[in-house]
Amino acid sequence: MATAVDDEGAPQPLCAGRSAEFMDYEGYPPSEDEAKAMCAGCPLLEQCNLNARQQLPSWGVWGGIAWIDRRQAHILKPADPRWSWCENET
Ligand code: SF4
Repeated sequence: MATAVDDEGAPQPLCAGRSAEFMDYEGYPPSEDEAKAMCAGCPLLEQCNLNARQQLPSWGVWGGIAWIDRRQAHILKPADPRWSWCENET
């Protein structure tokens, strides 16, 4: 399957080739501001951010959001019926 990374004419993600920084970090995840800064200027930021907000994340920085902040966003404001169980939590 071809991806944007394979197509030299397509906008390239800033995280390409930087998985250690975006996915394999150890210890605390990047802060909200650090995650935003990591993705700032990426030509795919808008779409990536939208996707990140629609998925329950497990790890990494997507669309300028660290996984822990995406998880909190889903818990506080479920965007998908699959996470409606969150509404029953206090
Ligand atoms: S916005 Fe998405 S595609 Fe762009 S650098 Fe961040 S994680 Fe990568």
